Amino acid sequence: VQAVFRSNLSHLLELMGSGKESLIFMKKRTKRLTAQWALAAQRLARKLGSVWRDQKQILVHIGFLTEESGDVFSPRVLKGGPLGEMVQWADILATLYVLGHGLRITVSLKELQSNLGVPPGRGNCPLTMPLPFDLIYTDYHGLQQMKQHMGLSFKKYRCRIRVIDTFGTEPAYNHEEYATLHGYRTNWGYWNLNPKQFMTMFPHTPDNSFMGFVSEELNETEKQLIKGSKASNMAVVYGKEASIWKGKEKFLGVLNKYMEIHGTVYYESRRPPEVPAFVKNHGLLPQPEFQQLLRKAKLFIGFGFPYEGPAPLEAIANGCVFLQSRFSPPHSSLNHEFFRGKPTSREVFSQHPYAENFIGKPHVWTVDYNNSEEFEAAIKAIMRTQVDPYLPYEYTCEGMLERIHAYIQHQDFCAAPGPAPVGARAPPSPFVLAPNATHLEWAQNASFAPGAWPPAHSLRAWLATAGRACTDVCLDHGLICEPSFFPFLNSQDAFQKLQVPCDSTESEMNHLYPAFAQPGRECFLQKEPLLFSCAGSSTKYHRLCPCRDFRKGQVALCQDCL
Ligand code: UDP
Repeated sequence: VQAVFRSNLSHLLELMGSGKESLIFMKKRTKRLTAQWALAAQRLARKLGSVWRDQKQILVHIGFLTEESGDVFSPRVLKGGPLGEMVQWADILATLYVLGHGLRITVSLKELQSNLGVPPGRGNCPLTMPLPFDLIYTDYHGLQQMKQHMGLSFKKYRCRIRVIDTFGTEPAYNHEEYATLHGYRTNWGYWNLNPKQFMTMFPHTPDNSFMGFVSEELNETEKQLIKGSKASNMAVVYGKEASIWKGKEKFLGVLNKYMEIHGTVYYESRRPPEVPAFVKNHGLLPQPEFQQLLRKAKLFIGFGFPYEGPAPLEAIANGCVFLQSRFSPPHSSLNHEFFRGKPTSREVFSQHPYAENFIGKPHVWTVDYNNSEEFEAAIKAIMRTQVDPYLPYEYTCEGMLERIHAYIQHQDFCAAPGPAPVGARAPPSPFVLAPNATHLEWAQNASFAPGAWPPAHSLRAWLATAGRACTDVCLDHGLICEPSFFPFLNSQDAFQKLQVPCDSTESEMNHLYPAFAQPGRECFLQKEPLLFSCAGSSTKYHRLCPCRDFRKGQVALCQDCL
């Protein structure tokens, strides 16, 4: 069946159920964004033309909202707790619905069981039942519940699962045996999924799929209006929880010399104020009122926490400058409580790396807050600069629809056989050698791997200098690492084409392979396809890196990916 774009979201709102504060928050958001979704659907429909889109049957099981996993979020929605996850789930639901797929939503174990056809009380049904869904979107909590209650069909159908995973899961942490042997500890379990089945909030590591969310978009009239009504001396502090403000008196004092400081910190009426007296605290605002506040403000300022949330994108979209602190040394699961136990080694160099790296000046200023001169100079400079509201395409409704459309139509983790095993015969003359001999181009007329996605001809291979991760090497060349291309590079033939002088070649399990070690002129191939990883580096190795191009403002998709 062909999927048809939908622009009326009232049925979706019914599907979302009711009761919990979290669902109420999500439904309000979806309702408010209806017109934007409808317009985006129209635009994407025009862009895609007559391309066939399969209608899928999709189950969305939001594990963290189930009582069975504690539902710690719902009671905190009105108290300044994290809303980012709810923003993202609301947008995922809207996306799947607007794209025209069949949708079921569950937020309790009971509903999950009845949708999977598991009789209640039959925890571990020995039979593998036909699964009535092509795709299941869930989170780590939901994954655990499915494993417990699907019996054998979990193993059979796990390739249909997509895990919404805010900060991402790197391959080394995903592979049970490897992670256990090498100390890649996580609190979230080892699932041996294809790393692309994990979907992140920001494009953290290309090893995972970038899901994202949306921010409200302004039309030209609104943009002009906002620009005219900005108060150049008005700042809003990023952070709904009082703890974020603790110990920041010094910075607030400096900021207060120049600007009027506003906050949206949750407070209880009989308790003493949580923030300094010179701050105008509005209390936690409903989302539309928070947007209004951002429209008037010139500066949105972060004090280091929360990491990587939606609010800075909303601020920038509403014409604010985002000022944030640089982290030196960077924060990671090795040195910061927040990231400890999360399945990633990613180093975070500022509060919001996406804002820093993908947006940057004049919208985003990342400075060393310990250097009070630098901090003060930034504030003064920001007050003098004029910026336009800006929203990267991948965070617009159209951009999100386009990206998820491409995933749904092209990503297939059930297809057998998996990636080419080590030792597989190399495809016929796959490379065109670039003049500098460290850069390989895929032959444009590559006739092997037909139908592969992303298409194999967008591969550009690089031999990294020692100590560099493929993620960074590709970015250096204006490209993005594409892990699904690793199998093409995992052969002696590839090393030969790159003119790497291998004295010996071995095949082992190591998330940095394929790679070359200079000292013994040793070449290493990857033995375990699940361990192909863009992330990761060691001074011992020159990694062999598969890169590809990407669409402007849509890093998840290559030029020919639509
Ligand atoms: N937000 C809100 N009221 C406020 C402050 C923020 O509704 O007073 C919303 C904001 O629009 C954003 C969401 O909270 O979409 C999550 O923001 P944040 O970046 O703080 O991420 P979190 O830490 O909540 O995940």
